[in-house]
Amino acid sequence: MSENSLFQTLSDVSPKGLRLFVRADFNVPMEHGVITDDTRIRAALPTIRELVERGGRVILASHLGRPKGRKDAAYSLAPVAARLAEYLKQPVSFCPQSVGAEAQAAVGDLRDGEVLLLENVRFHAGEEKNDPELARRFAELADLYVNDAFGAAHRAHASTAGIANHLRAVAGRLMERELNIMGAALQNPERPFTAIIGGAKVSDKIKVIENLLEKVDRLLIGGGMANTFLLAQGYPVGKSHVEAELVETARALIRQAASAGKTLLLPTDLIVATRFAADADHRVTALDAVREEEMALDIGPDSINRYRAAVATSRTVIWNGPMGVFEMAAFSQGTLAVAQAVADVTGTTIIGGGDSVAAIEKAGLADRMTHISTGGGASLEFLEGRALPGVESLARRSH
Ligand code: ADP
Ligand code: MG
Repeated sequence: MSENSLFQTLSDVSPKGLRLFVRADFNVPMEHGVITDDTRIRAALPTIRELVERGGRVILASHLGRPKGRKDAAYSLAPVAARLAEYLKQPVSFCPQSVGAEAQAAVGDLRDGEVLLLENVRFHAGEEKNDPELARRFAELADLYVNDAFGAAHRAHASTAGIANHLRAVAGRLMERELNIMGAALQNPERPFTAIIGGAKVSDKIKVIENLLEKVDRLLIGGGMANTFLLAQGYPVGKSHVEAELVETARALIRQAASAGKTLLLPTDLIVATRFAADADHRVTALDAVREEEMALDIGPDSINRYRAAVATSRTVIWNGPMGVFEMAAFSQGTLAVAQAVADVTGTTIIGGGDSVAAIEKAGLADRMTHISTGGGASLEFLEGRALPGVESLARRSH
């Protein structure tokens, strides 16, 4: 059984000679049919390689983009088959269907250790509706279901959840790693445990803040969302992006932190500019000196020092959301400095969230983190403490 014994993994099965329906997350960015970032493909390789080596017949399935339930060549997975073949150094056949006679024939041609990629499962409207009939048709292609699509685990779709009503289901290695590392951090962290939450909006992350506040020792807030907290404390915010309707929520979170004895760090200074532009004039300011025509686009140097110090002595860090508009060099200092501090931590460091991961990669610090989650929305929901349908389906039929 896996570490947490809530689900089974590849270690619990004998894949030799079995037809394995492996749901991966190959939802990669593409431009004109060319893959522009294959991180997700590389993340699926350990599972595929292991199953190939152990003599399984690997049937890969994934979604790509939002093709609206019908065939659309712009969302074909064919380029992914070619990229997989390069990495695996073996042929990967491609079937232009994901169910039905053609898919069955392609599966029938597979021999032990061979790999087949099915076409985009979202070419069927039933995929996103978790249609039981479509789930049954996926299931009839295989003997065993391997769910390695952590990035799609927050969706109850036919290929991420429904299929597990028909087949024994186990987690792939990527799914296992995501759940074990993030699960351990949330359930049994080495302390001090610090969460760093940033990004554009409080509204995107209220539930994450609420859930993490119960578990962490320190919570650091930065990015655009910090402005709403500063407004809640009575500071002027000028033209900064704020969510006025969440000021009361921000106050409640500040109170919640105080009464639970948690350290909640908010910016003590800011980088402000008069325009949202890379070349805008900008300056460092104290919180009470933000002018009407200014907006906060990064945390300031004093905030950086305090955040760095809080991170440096932590043994577990979870980070979701940049500290400023890191896409523009003038407003990237907060994010880069905090990233460096997280990289230097002795302990477990976990990065979740699409833009946070991009910032860490831009800083060249990705391989200094314990874990970079491959699931944007899925890791956010996991950090919210929500049950993920793709994970629940693993628990449902593991015998
Ligand atoms: P993640 O994808 O890591 O979860 P989000 O999507 O929540 O992060 O937020 C990332 C975005 O927030 C970035 O595009 C960044 O430019 C923006 N952002 C950060 N700080 C500010 C700010 N002070 N004002 C406006 N936007 C900000
Ligand atoms: Mg984002």
